Amino acid sequence: MTVPSDDELLFLALGGAGEIGMNLNLYGHAGKWLMVDLGIAFGDDSMPGVEVIMPDPAFIEERRENLVGIVLTHAHEDHLGAVPDLWPRLRAPVYATPFAASVLRRKLIEAGLIDAVPIKEIPLGGKFRIAPFDLELITMTHSILEPNALAIRTRFGTVFHTGDWKIDPEPLLGELTDEARLKTIGEEGALAMVCDSTNVFVEGEAGSEATVRANLEKLVKTRKSRIAVTCFASNLARVESIAKAAVAAGRHPVLAGRALQRMVDAAQECGYSSISRPASMNARRVTCRGTRPCSSALGARVSPAPPWPSSPTTTTETSCWSRATPRSSPRASFRATSARSAGCRTP
Ligand SMILES: [Zn+2]
Repeated sequence: MTVPSDDELLFLALGGAGEIGMNLNLYGHAGKWLMVDLGIAFGDDSMPGVEVIMPDPAFIEERRENLVGIVLTHAHEDHLGAVPDLWPRLRAPVYATPFAASVLRRKLIEAGLIDAVPIKEIPLGGKFRIAPFDLELITMTHSILEPNALAIRTRFGTVFHTGDWKIDPEPLLGELTDEARLKTIGEEGALAMVCDSTNVFVEGEAGSEATVRANLEKLVKTRKSRIAVTCFASNLARVESIAKAAVAAGRHPVLAGRALQRMVDAAQECGYSSISRPASMNARRVTCRGTRPCSSALGARVSPAPPWPSSPTTTTETSCWSRATPRSSPRASFRATSARSAGCRTP
């Protein structure tokens, strides 16, 4: 399998198959390899001290002269988070839609690789060729802007690679799922569907962002004190929902966390103008009460206020929206810093 022959179409997952995170998929045909996604996974309680895990790219690194490109389906960390660390071992052009490209550029600037990595932007729904593969992006819905499925066409037929997806009839930000293209691809016929969707085996519907927004507005109006909300920095529809809920209740939303600010900046750069950049809250502290986020999210490290057991305030980053209060507030005990963004598997 060193070099895929002309009469075979290979699928090889070096990460992300049967596990959560660190997606690295390879398709091989006619002497060439195409990579789909290059992400990280996050450590959990079974791996103390480990924050980030990456797939082992040794197989394709040894064959990188035959790696024709790296296509990123979307901007979640488990799909592009390993690019700054692993690209120097691969050195292939990277293809992404504008939002993922914008997020990646910001990471590459931090990594000092912005001038080294060739990024080719593909419009939503774009068709392009990375020989010997003909590719088409199909717009999906998920919990991030511009999630894409990928139709990978060869002379043998089409493989439909979904990326992450959640059918949401009201995503509130970004495009709807391109159901017409999905039907067309289905009618044309596909050799295989390579599919990634958390909780796909749980029966029922995941619900829409529109439902979350309506309930958040009701909930925020019932509270009297300062409110801190954590969420995935990349879930900009949720960020917008939180901000709208704050404004509807006569509150001032405040943004905390470098990853969150980076995502809002990327969205604005790509023309998602409904995301306005609120005031930032840096290097100050806020006491947080309420439900803890999942254990692997950095928000879990926010120092809890009593009645939780007291512990030293931890340096962390989280997305936080609260009623603006004077910087001299003695209640402030949460610090937002430049720690690396992390989070649980997206819903
Ligand atoms: Zn995702």
